[in-house]
Amino acid sequence: MAQRRGFSWLWLWGVAGLAAVNCRLRSVLEGSAGLPRLPGNESVHRPGSCETQARLAASFDFWTLSSEYLIDVLPIDPVKENYVRKVKNCIFSVVFPTPLKSRVRLVAVTKEVLEDILDLDLSVSETNDFIQLVSGEKIVFGSIPLAHRYGGHQFGVWADQLGDGRAHLIGIHVNRKGEKWELQLKGSGKTPYSRNGDGRAVLRSSVREFLCSEALYHLGIPTSRAASLVVSDDEVWRDQFYNGNIVKERGAVVLRIAKSWFRIGSLEILAHYGELDLLRTLLDFIIQEHFPSVDAKEPNRYVDFFSVVVSETAQLIALWMSVGFAHGVCNTDNFSLLSITIDYGPFGFMEAYNPDFVPNISDDEKRYKIGNQANIGMFNLNKLLQALNPLLDHRQKKLAAQILEEYSVLYYARFRELFKAKLGLLGEKEDDDDLIAFLLHLMKETEADFTMTFRQLSEITQNQLLELSIPQQFWALKKISQHGLFPAWVSRYLSRLKSNMNDSDSKRRKRMTTVNPKYVLKNWMAESAVQKAEINDFSEVRLLQQVLQHPFQKHSAAEKAGYSSPTPSWAKDLRVSCSS
Ligand code: AMP
Ligand code: MG
Repeated sequence: MAQRRGFSWLWLWGVAGLAAVNCRLRSVLEGSAGLPRLPGNESVHRPGSCETQARLAASFDFWTLSSEYLIDVLPIDPVKENYVRKVKNCIFSVVFPTPLKSRVRLVAVTKEVLEDILDLDLSVSETNDFIQLVSGEKIVFGSIPLAHRYGGHQFGVWADQLGDGRAHLIGIHVNRKGEKWELQLKGSGKTPYSRNGDGRAVLRSSVREFLCSEALYHLGIPTSRAASLVVSDDEVWRDQFYNGNIVKERGAVVLRIAKSWFRIGSLEILAHYGELDLLRTLLDFIIQEHFPSVDAKEPNRYVDFFSVVVSETAQLIALWMSVGFAHGVCNTDNFSLLSITIDYGPFGFMEAYNPDFVPNISDDEKRYKIGNQANIGMFNLNKLLQALNPLLDHRQKKLAAQILEEYSVLYYARFRELFKAKLGLLGEKEDDDDLIAFLLHLMKETEADFTMTFRQLSEITQNQLLELSIPQQFWALKKISQHGLFPAWVSRYLSRLKSNMNDSDSKRRKRMTTVNPKYVLKNWMAESAVQKAEINDFSEVRLLQQVLQHPFQKHSAAEKAGYSSPTPSWAKDLRVSCSS
């Protein structure tokens, strides 16, 4: 029984810890029969879970997490034992992480997340306490670890109960700015939602999630963040390409954070099982906490909520498209209600421009190809609406259906705006869409690199373009320029640039280099970092982390590593799958 084991390793940090965990954890856990009592002295000073700190914490003695904010309102599973089962009538199950057995090594931490969000001094990451926290070995003061119950549509089909099968929400940190952040370990062991899984995550997928979530953040795309990544020598067996070749890999844990981890599937499961009171409770909670623009007392609040999610989802997918990001598994359980990018799996940054680009080799039908992401957004929002429907009256249903129809308008408006910025266009011209489409067409036919074509257009001067004299280092532009219609496109582009008001070529280039990244996390870069990390050389993970924090700025070590050069030939056939 994992719960019982949980108690033997439950460990409270510092004097402050002694009292604190206990009141709430006890009441949660002792509600069920047969669990041992926790030690503790409730009279010891308890720092309030909502107290904010003026200085960064250099140890965990007075650093707190709390789960109360969630479980005071949202019901938890009355069954306390940790075994795989169908869970009903609740939002969370209390379940402890399963510690890794072997030595745990710190692969990387994100200073900015630690300091700016978690109020932790970077020096904390050098302590044992930190490793024990972020690997799930110890539970910090105030934490009641939770696994969330959710369902979802996977590859278009209702998949029933899914849930956090290898993730533990270890608590909420209210930081000094008053922001609430939910901390989640991924790869930290089995839960009631693990189905056939082992509750673990391997190093390669964890490195990818760690790097990519931070990379998207710095590209200005809403996403979960990554605080730390640790790896163990625990054996995790995976058939990476689903071809019967089962290989021993290593278990890793990412500490990832988000304002909320609720997904479309969080609501779907409640609607599916007719748990409508709970659906209302969860929705009201989410609206109250995360949708300040929605009046929580308004009878139309669920429609208003839906309207925000529709609009934000359209924005998010347009942003993904603007950097050539394909999520890979856009199931409803991987679509956040806050419209942030979550659950990084077999994602990919498109290299040669191709609307049929599919990063995930397991996606035989190409359902989640990059050019289909906007449609899938619509599909997922439809599923969200179906989940809301039982709470809507006839008029509200009609209204919500109309809102959904606006989705494509919102998406294209944002897409146009982003791509116009990528081309440095100011103002509105009738032919702007054509100009964008024309360029994408040439990129497709020449298989020019998406990221670098835009970047090099930001670096080349108009004079060089006019003369069609493309310097050698602009390799992506060289490629697209081989198309017979490239001069025609250039001529239209240059004439369009002339209509930019109050602009100059240096202003244009400056503007464009702030929206067209020089560095994105291409598969080969992640793979190269993973291969080194497998032998405990974490240097490239850390280099990529640094480079991707400033994706628009030239970085000498990145240049040396070839991160803005053509993909090396060894990496041409790299593949990623759902296996993680
Ligand atoms: P994903 O494809 O990563 O979004 O996961 C889909 C569902 O499978 C979620 O409910 C996950 O928690 C669960 N899952 C994925 N991998 C594992 C694993 N190794 N052990 C347990 N559950 C898993
Ligand atoms: Mg998922």
